Amino acid sequence: MRIFCIGRNYAAHAAELGNEIPSEPVVFIKPSTCLVDEGRKIIFPSYGEDLHHEAEIVVEIGEACSNLSKDEVSGFISRIGIGLDLTLRDVQAKLKEKGLPWEKAKAFDQSSPLGKMIDYTGQELENLNIGCRVNGAERQNGSTSLMLFPITQIISYLNFIWKLEKGDLIYTGTPKGVGPLKKGDTIEVFSKDIGSSSWSVK
Ligand code: ZN
Repeated sequence: MRIFCIGRNYAAHAAELGNEIPSEPVVFIKPSTCLVDEGRKIIFPSYGEDLHHEAEIVVEIGEACSNLSKDEVSGFISRIGIGLDLTLRDVQAKLKEKGLPWEKAKAFDQSSPLGKMIDYTGQELENLNIGCRVNGAERQNGSTSLMLFPITQIISYLNFIWKLEKGDLIYTGTPKGVGPLKKGDTIEVFSKDIGSSSWSVK
């Protein structure tokens, strides 16, 4: 399985990082070794200083597919859930400055904590709550209604480029409010539509 991630999918988040609004989805891929189940600790990477949380709705593909239109994709989603696309913002800033790929900043071990997943039974994908709290204080609280590219359009876009397989995960982008984590913090990702999951940072 692969982990596809969408960057800059909420206008207010693109703005808070000084990024332009993309005209098509920004895509990157992480290896499956980035996943962190709930209950395990998030290890702070040794080569960066500014580890940011990005709370995101995650979608799991339930069946192999290719070239789906956005009206066809809902039949191929098995589960929806919540997760974190952790980012070393200082490392990413240097890579962006040089026009280099983002893997060192985005795809390190443990960069994709994956929380609660529930069966997809036709929930309204364009109106899902997603947010997070750090040590109990709310940092992010948004809705997929604010996405630049809705979930069905993202999946159709990905599927135009790649065949998708059963078990592939798609991290769909983060709303505004990203910020730093430090060692000893506890982060809870929540969605009133899905549930909540938490991790501590070591
Ligand atoms: Zn992200």
